[in-house]
Amino acid sequence: MLYSTLVDSYKKLESTTKRLEMTDILVELMKKTTPSDLEKVIYLTQGKMHPDWTGEPELGIAERTATEAIARAAGINKKDIEALLAETGDIGHAAEKAMSSKRLKSLGERRLSVADVYEAFDKIAKESGKGSNERKIERLTSLIADASPLEARYILRTVTGALRLGVGDMTILDALAIAYTDSAENRDILERAYNLTSDLGFVARRLAESGLKGIENVKAVVGKPIRMMLAQRLSNPEEIIDKLGGKCSAEFKLDGERFQIHKKGEDVKIFSRRLENITHMYPDAVELSLNYLKVTDAIVEGEAVATDPDTNEMRPFQTLMQRRRKYGINEMMEKFPVTVFLFECLYIDGEDLTLSPYSTRRQRLKEIVAETDRFKIVRALETSKTLELEKFFEEAITEGCEGLVVKSTGEDSIYRAGARSWLWVKLKRSYQSKMVEPIDLVVVGAFHGRGKRAGSYGALLMAAFDPDEDVFKTVCKVGSGFTDEDLDKLPKMLEPYKRRDRHPRVNALLEADIWFSPSIVIEVLGDEITLSPVHTTAFNVIRENSGLAVRFPRFTGKWRVDKSPEDSTQVGEIIDMYKAQLKTIPKEGIEGL
Ligand code: AMP
Repeated sequence: MLYSTLVDSYKKLESTTKRLEMTDILVELMKKTTPSDLEKVIYLTQGKMHPDWTGEPELGIAERTATEAIARAAGINKKDIEALLAETGDIGHAAEKAMSSKRLKSLGERRLSVADVYEAFDKIAKESGKGSNERKIERLTSLIADASPLEARYILRTVTGALRLGVGDMTILDALAIAYTDSAENRDILERAYNLTSDLGFVARRLAESGLKGIENVKAVVGKPIRMMLAQRLSNPEEIIDKLGGKCSAEFKLDGERFQIHKKGEDVKIFSRRLENITHMYPDAVELSLNYLKVTDAIVEGEAVATDPDTNEMRPFQTLMQRRRKYGINEMMEKFPVTVFLFECLYIDGEDLTLSPYSTRRQRLKEIVAETDRFKIVRALETSKTLELEKFFEEAITEGCEGLVVKSTGEDSIYRAGARSWLWVKLKRSYQSKMVEPIDLVVVGAFHGRGKRAGSYGALLMAAFDPDEDVFKTVCKVGSGFTDEDLDKLPKMLEPYKRRDRHPRVNALLEADIWFSPSIVIEVLGDEITLSPVHTTAFNVIRENSGLAVRFPRFTGKWRVDKSPEDSTQVGEIIDMYKAQLKTIPKEGIEGL
């Protein structure tokens, strides 16, 4: 398949923000793609070479390096390329313009295939060590020299990590279902395979090679992260028991980091909730898994909490986040070792347990774990009584937990990979008339700062996730709660996600000064949830022409690096919080804005 075919689709994708149109364009593209190229086409369309969790080297070429390669390929002075770049702010356009000014290609010259481009990218990504930058420039130069101007645009955007076509995973799954099975309804079957493997390329290849039957047989694979099951939220213990069919198993909700541990013989990998491979940051957890998981192969899940090595007391979440670093890992490990509290068993020695009920999974977990102080199974209470649940909750809070995750014990209590399901309901401290509980929001834009904040941002535009529409909806502007240090690092931290215009998956009425691709998630606490005509969260849901907003929001100091944008608080949760407030405070108290 020619790279130009792929690039033509990119161009079309860029011209729309409508999901249905994007799907049609992708279907057309997939129909033209040979099964052997399909995997590459999918990764490339997502702007990468592999699923994020593989740990394989990715591209991430610096703009300076890219500029040098364009200059060499086009035979133009580097200064001129820099001027082009300054003019458009887009390295892709700069490359396209530079290459257009070059002589026209003569007939018979080689045309790039998708495989050529992927292979060249792979070699560039894998260059390392002394002199690697120069070798990258050389490889990139020769790739650009073989490309048409339009191809150069997308090659440059891809290598610099700036290819943002706004195509979500679910849109790709829709398109695969239509292209290969002629029915969008089969999307759910594909989605389950994706949820089990977190690898769209793998799912696509399997579909192309062995059809829907092959997809139905996909099982959990040790080494490929399973997309994690998440909990719904309710504030009333009685309601929770009702919702779960009259009985449940309540588990302590630890305030740490979710670990999905994959053990294959002597090899252990740990994945975070956003499916990053975080193994290297937690050598202590690797060792614990090797020592206390009594089977050859297993996939288990739990929450890792930083512990005081002297007192064995649990430390707050922020302490654990200090373990997320590139350097000084051993030193930090000694200072704050982790305790792993296990709550799931998804796979044992060739047996996929994701479709087994809760009680079976918990029983199997007990069988395969040799519990110790630092590696143990999370406390649980099976009950059907509200009072017992309330007492257990208070106990959890006293022990330093966030609350409970209350789980269904019914026949259908499978592990719903990738879903925020009603089989799990979290119970945190109650909603009083105030918003006592922080929420996690994603940064989608910013406003210029003035005075003391000149040069940084005055406020950030924050959004919640709407899974039904697969978009992010704004819910507040946050300006307070940032320390001077936070303010200093914000522009740098957000730089890679900067865009000229609103991201296609961001739904906003406000015009931000700067827009970002949704990526960074922070924790925000406000005083209450109010109706607001300027924010798009729950727009027209409670009242016509109003959305919901967080009033007096402030940053709590927690950078939720463990959460992906899709893990941020959902629009539905904010609606529930608003409704819960209505029950406890007089109406006029919350409606003003
Ligand atoms: P939240 O981050 O508020 O949506 O709560 C869900 C998170 O709670 C999960 O992703 C886990 O990281 C964490 N958690 C802590 N204890 C448990 C537990 N016993 N069962 C499930 N999740 C838990």
